[in-house]
Amino acid sequence: MKYIEPHAHMVSRTTEDYERMALAGCEAVCEPAFWAGYDRCSADGFHDYFSQLTRYEPRRAARFGLIHFCWLGLNSKEAEDLTLAGEVLALLPEFIDQPNVLGIGEIGLNKNSRNELRVLEMQVDFAARHHQLILVHTPHLEDKWKGTRLILDVLKNDQRLRPERILIDHVEEHTVGMVLDSGMWAGMTLYPETKCTPARAIDMLETYGREKLWMNSACDWGVSDPLAVPKAALEMRKRGHPPGAIERVLFDNPKKFLRQSGKFTL
Ligand SMILES: [Zn+2]
Repeated sequence: MKYIEPHAHMVSRTTEDYERMALAGCEAVCEPAFWAGYDRCSADGFHDYFSQLTRYEPRRAARFGLIHFCWLGLNSKEAEDLTLAGEVLALLPEFIDQPNVLGIGEIGLNKNSRNELRVLEMQVDFAARHHQLILVHTPHLEDKWKGTRLILDVLKNDQRLRPERILIDHVEEHTVGMVLDSGMWAGMTLYPETKCTPARAIDMLETYGREKLWMNSACDWGVSDPLAVPKAALEMRKRGHPPGAIERVLFDNPKKFLRQSGKFTL
C-alpha cells in the first residue's frame, strides 16, 4: 500500500519515525508550521523554524526516500501578540517560493479570540495575494463548532479565494458536514487516545463519501502516532473497503488537493 502523510510535525519526531513511515508505504510527508510546545520569544525563532522546514527537514526525509513538503504561517496559539504576528508575516515572502512550500498553514483559531481572528484574516489576505493554498487548524473540544463556523465565515467572505483550494483540518462528526457543504476539503486527524480514532474517521467516510476528505496523523511532540494513517488503512480493510478505495482516500485524495499548489510532485 502507498499513502501520503498530509499533516505531520516531523521536526518533533525521530529519524526512526521516517524509516517506519517509509516501510509502511509512505511516499511523501507534508509538515504544516505549528506551535513548538512553547511560545517563541521573537520573530527570529520563526525564521530559524521556517529555515528548518524548507532546508533541513527535506534532507532528513530524503534519506528514507520520502519527499518532504511544508506549509508556512503563524499558528493560532502564538497569534495573540499582533506585533509579533506582523513580524512573522513579514518573513513569509523570503520563504514562500521555496520548492517544498505548499501554501499557508496551519493557520486558524485556538481559543477563538479577537486577536486570533485578526491574525487569521491577515494570513488569509497574504494567501489570496500570493495565490497560495490554505491549510486550516480548527480548535479542539468545546471550541471546535464555533471556531469552525467563524473560520468558514472569514474564508467565504473573501471573494478572491476558491473553496476547493482550502482544507479545514481536525474535523469531527459535528463539523465535517459544514466544511464539505462549503465546497472546501476536510481533514480527519487520527489521534491514538482521545478525539478521532480510526474507527470514527471511517464512520465519517462511510457517511459523507470519499470526496474531498483526507486522513492524517498530525503527529507532533505530544502523544501521537506517526503510523496512524496506515493503521486506518488496516481498519478500512477489516471493514471490507476494497484496496482501490483505500488508496483513493489515502493517496489519490491528498495528491489531488496538494497538486493545486503547482509544487507537489512525487
Ligand atoms: Zn498540526
